[in-house]
Amino acid sequence: MSELNVVAISEAKLPLDPFVARHLIAGSWRDSCSGETFERTSPSHGALVTRAAKGNAQDVDAALQAARAAFDDNAWRSTSGKDRATLLLKVADLIDRDREKIALLETLESGKPISQARAEIEGAADIWRYAASLARNIHGESHNSLGDDFLGLVLKEPIGVVSIITPWNFPFLIVSQKLPFALAAGCTVVIKPSEMTPATTVVLGELLIEAGCPAGVVNIVLGYGDPVGIAMTTDKRVDMVTFTGSTAVGKGIVKAASGTLKKVSLELGGKNPQVIFPDADLDSAVDAVAFGVYFNAGECCNSGSRIIVHEDIVEEFIARTVSLSKDVPFGDPLDPSTKVGAIITPDHQQKIDAYVQQAGQDGADIRLGGGPLQVPGLSGQFYKPTVISNVKAEMPIAREEVFGPVLSVLTFKTLDEAIALVNDADYGLSAGVWSENVHTCLEFARKAQAGTVWTNTWMDGFAELPFGGVKESGQGRELGKYGVEEFLEAKTVTMRIGRTRAPWVETRTK
Ligand code: NDP
Repeated sequence: MSELNVVAISEAKLPLDPFVARHLIAGSWRDSCSGETFERTSPSHGALVTRAAKGNAQDVDAALQAARAAFDDNAWRSTSGKDRATLLLKVADLIDRDREKIALLETLESGKPISQARAEIEGAADIWRYAASLARNIHGESHNSLGDDFLGLVLKEPIGVVSIITPWNFPFLIVSQKLPFALAAGCTVVIKPSEMTPATTVVLGELLIEAGCPAGVVNIVLGYGDPVGIAMTTDKRVDMVTFTGSTAVGKGIVKAASGTLKKVSLELGGKNPQVIFPDADLDSAVDAVAFGVYFNAGECCNSGSRIIVHEDIVEEFIARTVSLSKDVPFGDPLDPSTKVGAIITPDHQQKIDAYVQQAGQDGADIRLGGGPLQVPGLSGQFYKPTVISNVKAEMPIAREEVFGPVLSVLTFKTLDEAIALVNDADYGLSAGVWSENVHTCLEFARKAQAGTVWTNTWMDGFAELPFGGVKESGQGRELGKYGVEEFLEAKTVTMRIGRTRAPWVETRTK
């Protein structure tokens, strides 16, 4: 038996022809003004998956003009919540109908396992349904206690034209955490998916048109951050940018958007810790640690890449984690039994490996993995499940986002020490604690600097619960009722009711 659970190439067939992706501008599918295209090959099979229009500033200009016109003509923003909800529900049904098609494209472009892609598309449809429920619940406030002569109203209005920029790790899910909420609010949008994963966003555009979304309300421009993303973040016609991706690009977007003082909502990286106490249910904790670090090959903002284990149980915990890691099925994403697929690009594989080798040179112990994984029959890049112990808090492997299937293990003696280690980070996306003691869990939840805290679980998410980070993990929230609030402005209407207002200026002539 091989040391790792490697899934060799499956019998699943690759599509014969590439998916052709064009820009969606003002309701029509368009090639780039330049006529240029780019291609995406599957990171697992090395096969051509998508040929896409390669956008430039001119294409963005046309898309922004369409989005601006669709917002300013009032037609979309003045639709009722009921009508917007009906559209979102229809899209959800169409996503369910086309789940297999979307999941296959997602898997081929991103390298993620097909069973995971199917679950993500199902989850995305659920988010569209949840956003539909919010579309009918947008309301402001009334102030009836301002004295006899006044009534105050706070109206909630759509913020305007929104640029949506998404990454490659969860292309369909992440656009679904933003777009239906923006539409529920009455905004119009221009979307740029990652150049590595454009196809499923284009399919979503097709479904929106089929569902009856008016021309210009949703526009899609394909291409690279430079020039497409840059134009979408600097242009005066954009009122808000919502971005998911690296902290470095997120900081750049804040600067780019400051020229016109747009609102910026950011969902960025994480170095998410899980603290394991000796009284924890260790079977569940070990399984959740494996899930947390290997899910999506660790290419996940919520990756549980840093565990902090009590000294008394650290050796037992590492031994159990290493043993379970060997059973995780790594390999062909098209095999339904695979749990971990390919790494997004050769460059990214090298970046992961550089972090691991650096950790070894810094004095940490590589207990499992620590290098590329050969999958029989496949030419793409895969990385071995990797467990590194004896990690110190100051090492880059403990502080920086590796974005690969690499677990760092640190140790602690007391709750205070564990919380200090958790908070000794530039990031603050999520954190977890494993203990059977509710007081330990609650104290941890209160003191951990993170947008989400999980107790005795990891990475469970619900459309109802907000998601986002503190510190350098971002600003703003997605999902939950906060998901739609992000796309709304408050407008104050102060109404004088009586005629009793004393004049500010006494007139001198009678
Ligand atoms: P990026 O942050 O570079 O990309 C995310 C999106 O932003 C892509 O659509 C990208 O376009 C676009 N973009 C890039 N530059 C700009 C810009 N100047 N203005 C506007 N948009 C821009 O992530 P990468 O794909 O390069 O991944 C690098 C690292 O980022 C990963 O190793 C990981 O650590 C982290 N990351 C974090 C994610 C998260 O969920 N928090 C998701 C993805 C990555 P394009 O790539 O098409 O040029």
